[in-house]
Amino acid sequence: MPRPRALWPALALLAPIAAVASAQPSAEVTVLPIALTVATVDDGPVVAEAWIAEQLANANTLFAPHGVRFTIAGRHTMGPEHARLEDRGDRHQLGHLLHDERIDAFLVASLRDVDDRSRYRQGVHWRPRGEEYARGSHFVIVSRIAGPTVLAHELGHFFGNPHSDVPGNIMSYDRGEVPPFFDRAQGQRIRFEARRFVRTGELVPVIEEPAPTP
Ligand SMILES: [Zn+2]
Repeated sequence: MPRPRALWPALALLAPIAAVASAQPSAEVTVLPIALTVATVDDGPVVAEAWIAEQLANANTLFAPHGVRFTIAGRHTMGPEHARLEDRGDRHQLGHLLHDERIDAFLVASLRDVDDRSRYRQGVHWRPRGEEYARGSHFVIVSRIAGPTVLAHELGHFFGNPHSDVPGNIMSYDRGEVPPFFDRAQGQRIRFEARRFVRTGELVPVIEEPAPTP
């Protein structure tokens, strides 16, 4: 795709002018809280801290150009009965473990595909079905077999993005030759959904103290 690449120099030139014109930093960031629930089995949590840190860092790198950052604002564990998710019912059950005002992310040992039972998924964005769940509730599940950008991909779904067929796009199954990215339309959807999540109270952003100026 040579054409988008050719746009970069022009964008680079425009960026400082736009920043001056608006007289404030163009990079306003909404920090959104993740409630992280890790399944625990006999030998402990199903993933290591470094694994979690890498998933989170990659998600933040991918969302940063679109004004969203994530922080873990709650750590929880769940028992072995939730470690291996075999069917839709097992996924729905996690709907009982949700946290208000946060994005719930569940880390599990295995996540069987519910359509092709011979396959295991790396992650999924899920809406629990049933009267007992709050209307519109949704969450992400990531399996320990996941590649390092799967949390970012599932969060992409959380922000309303469907799959892409563009190789390298983070919402594509084809990793392509370039670092993963959200495209412009996906970025707009992320900003739109972030504002909506905050406006409706579905998510309450984390206010971080600004770094002291030297
Ligand atoms: Zn997907």
